[in-house]
Amino acid sequence: PAPAAQSSDSGSSPWTRGQPVPYKTLCATFELIQATTKRLEIQSHLTDLFRSVIDLSPQCLIECVYLCINRIGPEYEGKELGVGESLLVKAVANAMGRDVKSIKAELDQVGDLGTVAQSKGHQKTIFSAKPLTVTSVFAALKAISNISGQSSQQRKIDAIQKLLVSCSGSEAKFLIRSLEGKLRIGLAEQTVLMSLAHAAALSDSKIAAMPSEKRAAMMAEAAAKIKQVYSAIPSYDLIIPALLEYGFQHLEDHCHMTPGIPLKPMLAHPTKSLTEVLDRFEGMAFTCEYKYDGERAQIHKLENGTVVIYSRNSENLSGKYPDIIERIPNVPKPGVKSFVLDCEAVAWDVKKQCILPFQVLSTRKRKDVQTTDIQVQVCIFAFDLLFLNGEVGTGLDCAKPLITETLKRRRELMYESLNEIEGQFQFAKSMTSSNVEEIQTFLDDSVVGNCEGLMVKTLEKDSSYEPSKRSRNWLKVKKDYVNGLGDSLDLVVIGGYIGRGKRTGWYGGYLLACYDEDREEYQTICKIGTGFSEDQLAEHAELFKPHVIPGPKPYYKYSDNPNVRPDVWFEPAQVWEVKAADLSISPVHKAATGTIDPNKGISLRFPRFIRVRDDKSPDQATTAAQVAEMYRSQNINPIKGTNMGAAD
Ligand code: ATP
Repeated sequence: PAPAAQSSDSGSSPWTRGQPVPYKTLCATFELIQATTKRLEIQSHLTDLFRSVIDLSPQCLIECVYLCINRIGPEYEGKELGVGESLLVKAVANAMGRDVKSIKAELDQVGDLGTVAQSKGHQKTIFSAKPLTVTSVFAALKAISNISGQSSQQRKIDAIQKLLVSCSGSEAKFLIRSLEGKLRIGLAEQTVLMSLAHAAALSDSKIAAMPSEKRAAMMAEAAAKIKQVYSAIPSYDLIIPALLEYGFQHLEDHCHMTPGIPLKPMLAHPTKSLTEVLDRFEGMAFTCEYKYDGERAQIHKLENGTVVIYSRNSENLSGKYPDIIERIPNVPKPGVKSFVLDCEAVAWDVKKQCILPFQVLSTRKRKDVQTTDIQVQVCIFAFDLLFLNGEVGTGLDCAKPLITETLKRRRELMYESLNEIEGQFQFAKSMTSSNVEEIQTFLDDSVVGNCEGLMVKTLEKDSSYEPSKRSRNWLKVKKDYVNGLGDSLDLVVIGGYIGRGKRTGWYGGYLLACYDEDREEYQTICKIGTGFSEDQLAEHAELFKPHVIPGPKPYYKYSDNPNVRPDVWFEPAQVWEVKAADLSISPVHKAATGTIDPNKGISLRFPRFIRVRDDKSPDQATTAAQVAEMYRSQNINPIKGTNMGAAD
């Protein structure tokens, strides 16, 4: 297949080899993607675009990729777009020569500011405006996100207005959505990665000329390689130049995990019983570890002495944990220059020398903590070593990621190269046995020790560290699995119900949603009104104040049934961990509609609030696919005593 865009004037997007890609060309691809829900079609439109970019203007590939995923740099740098709605409304009004009130009224009607900004006829025409390019738009978005200090609001409005008046066709729509932080064309990052890989493979003329079966195999190989490299070093700024220079075949030789760049953490599969664990690992070597209940901390110690701590989310936590940063230099044994550790930071009672519950940790300040002000002490429990400055004792001095080694080897190296410091830095408690009684006792002990249960992990065969993967080689067994679903869910709060009686002045309940990654949708899953303390009800009411929106977002899937329609809608701002008795097919809720039942969704029965998940962003909430999987697994292995009726 030939690239979609040509160096000549192809329809509406003239594009000259070597020159920046016209923004219009990217928007034309967005339109094609928006017009279909078929994943393969979406992928193929984007592959065509990336092929053309590689062929004609490879220097723009990074910018194109970032514009597709709505980011302006690697996730771990924490730079966000997400400009507030009121500011955008002002910019749109100025650009169109209209007043804010009429824009707001149209927004209420249409539900999408991008569409309002695109509407023709009102737009001020600037005859001399130069056509936008992906390079100019990307640079402008970066500049807007960097505006701070005095009169920053006005300067942002001016910059956005300037961009808007240069827009034509659908450019304004996508520009506004990019500024909002959500393109909403059903384009998941995984699809972007796949398309990038396919385009890279097809831009090799030998591969492009292969018979279709062989070509497809090469494209699949490219996708697997790029996915793997991206999860170990999640930076397009580093991967794309290497991909263009060396091709996907040699990407791994030039791009591997590096201290200072957080890799995507490996995730675990929930289980509902120890017998399920034993069945899964039958005949394999495995080990049990305490599942500490705190905050995941990926600790990077660089050769130059710098220590950085990253969250589960790749957010830099160094400002939250200066005490950990201070103590890390005491941990390595002589000869150890750099390392990356996977750990859990847990609240610690210094007097009694024991672990404190998660609730205590959650009271610790999140930013700019001064060591002298710290009220809640923490202990680090390290459970994996992912990188070491060349294997200790082998004489290697080249940097070596350990993620492909067995867990047995990684652990040995961790024990050999680091010192434990009581109450400050310890190795996760572990036990290796396949005897169910012994494991049960270990589980009980973990609970007595204020842990959440156990993590059970393969030790030798199939025990490499799998970045970003929810792997069946790591199973989590939570202490209260016997009473519920095996795992809690992390859900996004999208609406509130005005409180009455004792809850007057607060919200009496909330509407929660899971996230469908493929469709980029929040789908309602339940109403929740229990599990909150009075303090929490007051705090939540305050917290959601700035997030109230006039109506549901176009990417919310909900029912208009008066029993579930909330009094107030919120933009997606917070994730809550929620436990429930079970899952059931629902006539009103929309989670995972079309997977278990063609027309009905899934809902939670008896949901209970557990905690706020500050370490997850709304699009990292439990996915619709996970909800469907939990539903299926509960029905294969039903929980005794639960009644699978339809929920409201
Ligand atoms: P998920 O996305 O899987 O729901 P989560 O962040 O909600 O993840 P859990 O389901 O509670 O987390 O389980 C995995 C988490 O357990 C890890 O992210 C880590 O923070 C924590 N943890 C505690 N002890 C260990 C251990 N020994 N090994 C691995 N992870 C551990």
